[in-house]
Amino acid sequence: MNIEEIYKSSNALLEGHFLLSSGNHSKFYLQSAKVLENPKTAKMLGEELAKQIKESGIKADCVCSPALGGILAGFALADALDLNFIFTERVDKKMTLRRGFEIKKGQKFIICEDIITTGGSAREAAREIEKLGGEVVAYAALANRGFCARYDSEVKAQSICQLPLDKQFFALDDFIFEMYSPETCPLCKGGSKAIKPGSRGN
Ligand code: ZN
Repeated sequence: MNIEEIYKSSNALLEGHFLLSSGNHSKFYLQSAKVLENPKTAKMLGEELAKQIKESGIKADCVCSPALGGILAGFALADALDLNFIFTERVDKKMTLRRGFEIKKGQKFIICEDIITTGGSAREAAREIEKLGGEVVAYAALANRGFCARYDSEVKAQSICQLPLDKQFFALDDFIFEMYSPETCPLCKGGSKAIKPGSRGN
């Protein structure tokens, strides 16, 4: 399965001249929600991710995603693994489990995101699950931005990766983009102007 092609044809992998939230510029931008716009694509990606997890032999009882971005990916993965699905959400910036979701002591969880950049939100969700007695057995995402090491890839973890190194991380593909400071950006030098993705009201 060519994951990059699926992202491109869903307009989830944009090519242009983008201003990232870090302040850097890039030729590419991942609009992860777009790849999940079609439920059949979401289901197919969930099944592909589930295949890797099954192959690794890792067993879990439930999938948990940090809201909002991870919810659709986590739901699709849980469906494919025939597991329950819950989500954590931020309340006053703190990742929290609400809505009557309960965790049994020793219950095993996979934390699932749509995309892992540094893995900060995934790690926060994991801490909340662990605090409530659950055990996090693995991390998963549809896309890896290339800062964390994932199962079945040569990509090495960088120091900004917040996922624990002793837990397996599953993702469908690595999306590694070159980033430039505004001063050294070749796209700026070429005369174009960086745009903020989603700045047209979406
Ligand atoms: Zn630029």
